[in-house]
Amino acid sequence: MTETSPVCTKCAKRDSIYFRPYSGERLCPTCFKRSLKERVERTIARFEMLEHDSRVAVGVSGGKDSLGLLHILAEIERSYPKAEIIAVSIDEGVRGYRDEAISIATEACGDLGVEHLVISFKELFGVTMDEIAASTRELGACTYCGVLRRRALNEAAMRVEADRLATGHTLDDMAQTALLNVLRGDVNSLSRVNPGGSDLPGFVRRIKPYCEVPERESALYAYLEGFRFQELPCPYTGEAMRNDVRGFLNRMEITRPGTMFTVYRTAIKLTPERGETTMMGTCSKCGEPTTGTVCRACQLIDGLREQGPKNA
Ligand code: SF4
Ligand code: ZN
Repeated sequence: MTETSPVCTKCAKRDSIYFRPYSGERLCPTCFKRSLKERVERTIARFEMLEHDSRVAVGVSGGKDSLGLLHILAEIERSYPKAEIIAVSIDEGVRGYRDEAISIATEACGDLGVEHLVISFKELFGVTMDEIAASTRELGACTYCGVLRRRALNEAAMRVEADRLATGHTLDDMAQTALLNVLRGDVNSLSRVNPGGSDLPGFVRRIKPYCEVPERESALYAYLEGFRFQELPCPYTGEAMRNDVRGFLNRMEITRPGTMFTVYRTAIKLTPERGETTMMGTCSKCGEPTTGTVCRACQLIDGLREQGPKNA
């Protein structure tokens, strides 16, 4: 830092390296990292995400967000001798992309001394994302990936006997999802934002302790902590509408700092207090929990089989 760097607003001692536009704070590396950890702790407390003896499976993709979350949870866990964290990764089978991410995740878990379980789409569903992408015509690759990964993460969390499944969804993800629900007119999903998760039969409770961390700050945290993460984007570019919403929110955040927090908090306000229960049955094909008769994962896999190869 140069001598002219404004001093940190929190400690009033060290040079700041980051300006937080939505709060007006200027932070030094130490205070920035501390404030991020404190924010995650507050989020955990507000949504009653953890007990002192929780066994938490952390979904680790190898990207900056999930690895940042893993670092922070590993640090928090040290103050709770009865709590445990285990990393779980899903290998969707995207050659040249996911294999690199998994090796980064494995290395990070080794460094942190965290147990790590990897399970693959191939093992669970008999098909890889590359095979799905080569055969799907109607729905985009990401539709399959999202549904199957959700199922796979639940399966992984059950295998390690976790009672919580933590994912690295950031504030950006939460705001994008809320706005997508508005644009799709999906009032039901819009009013069901619960970062603390619910206890549903057959599902490990899903929690999102990073839901109030902007992606930009997640990137800075990764940089300051100096851990390696995957930067390569997935070759199946993502859902088109979400990409549009991401671009729009990012531009709004620059001209009107705090927009993402407002969108996210609006969705939270629209959500009734926790305690809502959904009637669950079991899928007639695979036996997994579902609200219908056949679960979404089985519907998609069956659809693929009926469709046959793309160029047939
Ligand atoms: Fe899966 Fe799509 Fe994400 Fe690639 S971009 S990992 S296919 S959801
Ligand atoms: Zn400071």
